[in-house]
Amino acid sequence: MQELRDVEAVRRWCDEARRAGRRVGFVPTMGYLHEGHLSLLRLARQHAESIVVSIFVNPTQFGPQEDLSRYPRDAEGDAAKCREAGVDLIFSPSVEAMYPAGAQTFVEVQHLSQGMCGERRPGHFRGVCTVVEKLLNVVGPCVAVFGEKDYQQLQVLRRLVTDLLQPVEIIAGPLVREPDGLAMSSRNAYLEPNQRRAAVALHQTLCAARERVAEAGGGALARDVLALSRGRLEKVEGARVDYVELRQGGSLDPLAEEATIRPGEAVLLLAVFFGSTRLIDNLML
Ligand code: AMP
Repeated sequence: MQELRDVEAVRRWCDEARRAGRRVGFVPTMGYLHEGHLSLLRLARQHAESIVVSIFVNPTQFGPQEDLSRYPRDAEGDAAKCREAGVDLIFSPSVEAMYPAGAQTFVEVQHLSQGMCGERRPGHFRGVCTVVEKLLNVVGPCVAVFGEKDYQQLQVLRRLVTDLLQPVEIIAGPLVREPDGLAMSSRNAYLEPNQRRAAVALHQTLCAARERVAEAGGGALARDVLALSRGRLEKVEGARVDYVELRQGGSLDPLAEEATIRPGEAVLLLAVFFGSTRLIDNLML
C-alpha cells in the first residue's frame, strides 16, 4: 500500500493503474475509519482492481460554528485499517494541496441540496460537491463508493456526476450499525457514555416507524409516521431534534402530510443533537 499527499503524484499513480488495465475504485472519507468505511472498501474491491481511499477533512463543508478543528483524526490507525482491507493507495492531501489558490470556484447541486442537512448546515453540500468533484478530477476512478448513512449526500452526489457528465459509476454501500443499532459514525467518538446510551433512540425510532408502515394494511399516513417519530425522539433524555423528515426514496421529493406510505416507498431521515454532537440516521420504511 502506498500513501501519497501530493496531487500530481496521485494523478501519476492512477494513470499508471489505468495504463496497466486496472479499474480504479475510489472511496472518499474524512478518516477516523470505522467498519462503515471498511464495508465501502470491500464493496469497491468487488468492482475495481486498484482501490484508492482519500482521507481529507474538507474545511469548505464545515460551517463556522461546526466541529472542523476538533474532528477526530488517527492517521496511523487509518493506515493500518486500510492496509488490512487491501487498499492500494491512501491519498491524504493537505488543505493547501486541495485548495492551492484558496477557494473561488464551487460546485452546487441546487434542488436536492435544499432541506434537511442542506437547510440545517448552510453551504455544507456546496463544500461536499466541490471537494468530491476535485477528488474525482485527481483520481479519475471508474467507480466511486458512498454510504447510505449520508442518504441526502448520496443523492446529491449521484446528481452531481450526472449533471457534470463525470465518467464514474456511483455505488451505494448499505448503512453499517453498531450491535445495538446506532449508525456507525466518526462523530460517535464525541458522545459521553449517557449520550451514547440514549443515541440508540434514533435507530429505535426508525424501526418503530417502519413497523407502523408494515402493520398498517393499506399504508400509514405520513402525518402519523412523522408524529410517532417526533414524539419518540422528543422524549429522549438529552436529545434535541434537529429534523425529522419523510421523503420519497431516491428523489427525496417531499411527501404531503396526507400521503399514504406503503412499504419500500419512503425514507425517514433524522438529525438529532446530543449536546453539541449532531447525529444523522435514516431508514427506508
Ligand atoms: P465520512 O468519513 O463520514 O465523510 O464518510 C465517508 C463515507 O463513508 C461516506 O460515503 C459515508 O456515507 C460513508 N459512511 C460513514 N458512516 C457509514 C456507515 N455507518 N455505514 C456505511 N457508510 C458509512
